[in-house]
Amino acid sequence: MSDKKGRVLVVEDNFMSKALVREVLELNGYEVVEADRGVDAVRIAGEEKPDVILMDINLPGMDGVTATRLIKSSASGSTVPILALTASAMKGEEEKIIAQGFDGYIAKPIDISTLIKSIEEAVASFISR
Ligand code: MN
Repeated sequence: MSDKKGRVLVVEDNFMSKALVREVLELNGYEVVEADRGVDAVRIAGEEKPDVILMDINLPGMDGVTATRLIKSSASGSTVPILALTASAMKGEEEKIIAQGFDGYIAKPIDISTLIKSIEEAVASFISR
């Protein structure tokens, strides 16, 4: 049995942003798997069975909303929490993000303590499903 707190799939095309998220999550005891593109995210979500997915909305090719819809409609991914990574987290934006199929969001620029808290909550909600 793994001593990790959970496995996080990070879907992000920006190298710096992805490196930051990986560093923070690994330092906090999470296992990280990565994808740069939406199409890879769908495949890796099926293969790696993450406990939570962090999904950038703006990705080259298939966007994060479409990738999320595909993962949620798959047998293995229907219950996995998916948090959007979005630069546009203004008031009222959360409902729009939830309506697009996400379970929540993390605003960019990323606040590290918010990131960790959101991941912990998402993993806990997934385990209790
Ligand atoms: Mn992006």
